[in-house]
Amino acid sequence: MRTETPFLRFPTVCPRCSKESLIALPLSVVTGALTTGSKLRLRSGCCFEVVWYASEVEREQLREYWLSFTMDEEQGSRAEGVT
Ligand SMILES: [Zn+2]
Repeated sequence: MRTETPFLRFPTVCPRCSKESLIALPLSVVTGALTTGSKLRLRSGCCFEVVWYASEVEREQLREYWLSFTMDEEQGSRAEGVT
């Protein structure tokens, strides 16, 4: 059984240099923030000292990635169960 934490990867725009980069957050953190409505702290891949909280727009984008990610996960486990 795998114990490694799945990471959700999604593009975000750095508020300091406006550069788009891919960041990864543990799926459990994203799930918690989206389901409880708590603040989600983001960190860009280019400026490591820059930390900010996800805006409403970013949360919506993140939800899209989160939905497709969790659906893929479900399909994966279902396919394993069939074989
Ligand atoms: Zn930056």
